[in-house]
Amino acid sequence: MISVSRRDFILGGAALALAARPRCAFASTPSPTENAGGSEAVAASGALKVRFLGTGALDWEKGPNKHGETRRFASVLIDGRTLIDFTPRNREMLPEGCRPEAVFYTHSHRDHFDPEAALALGVKRVYCHESWVKTARKLFAAAAGERPAPEVNGVAFGAPVVEGGVAFTALPANHSTRKKGERCALYMLDKGATRLLYATDTCGIPRDALKYAGMERDAERPFTAIIMEATAGPGHADDHRFFFSHSSAELVARTARALAASGRYRPAAARPVWITHMLRAQYGSMRELDSSLPAPLKAAFDGMEIEI
Ligand SMILES: [Zn+2]
Repeated sequence: MISVSRRDFILGGAALALAARPRCAFASTPSPTENAGGSEAVAASGALKVRFLGTGALDWEKGPNKHGETRRFASVLIDGRTLIDFTPRNREMLPEGCRPEAVFYTHSHRDHFDPEAALALGVKRVYCHESWVKTARKLFAAAAGERPAPEVNGVAFGAPVVEGGVAFTALPANHSTRKKGERCALYMLDKGATRLLYATDTCGIPRDALKYAGMERDAERPFTAIIMEATAGPGHADDHRFFFSHSSAELVARTARALAASGRYRPAAARPVWITHMLRAQYGSMRELDSSLPAPLKAAFDGMEIEI
């Protein structure tokens, strides 16, 4: 299901996108109280609903592109309840009445991590890799001031945490920040038969990520869906500015092929690999994108919803 039409997206801007905002499907659902300790169960069935709250890389802070299209920084809302990364403008793409209680952060770069944005939303639980949890706690406490700060939890690679009936497992990314010792994370999401790999920011998928996903030798339980960053656009795969810590559209296509060939990725028939975290400077308009991306890639856009 796509809740904002591509035409609306192209005409773009927040105004149209806001007008098309759906109501939050989970707005009246009681929030999970038992949590963090891992007592909540993973849903045994049901589709995983992903809403893209942002699909752009850092250079989108310059504003809309020449086609009048807007992308916010990369962020997703899972099942209307849990966020991965969250920055101020992602709030514009939240369904009305939606108040997610938890955020999983991939890393501390400012186009992914913004304590004030999460505080303004009233988020109660925050997760990041254990290597920088003390820093995250300090930053949240400083931003909160007199306001209550959320519980900030460190997660270890390979150790699932359940939020909203979905298991989130952090996996190592090939990406780095200037914070000493910080390890950046990808997330593997499990719900029912769905196993989604959400991979941003990273250059390719490190072998260690497969190890922590339990797929080092083979995969009894392969990924069934992939959302991956493709910072560098088609034809820009050799751009050295991004090559060492980000992926290109070509690399995402190669990664998906290699994972599929080795039995680690078994998507439903005709399911695309969705790309996010796209550079403003290296991608054309959404219309151009559809024809320029290598198969099986499909560019996500802000407000797009998928059920997998
Ligand atoms: Zn980054």
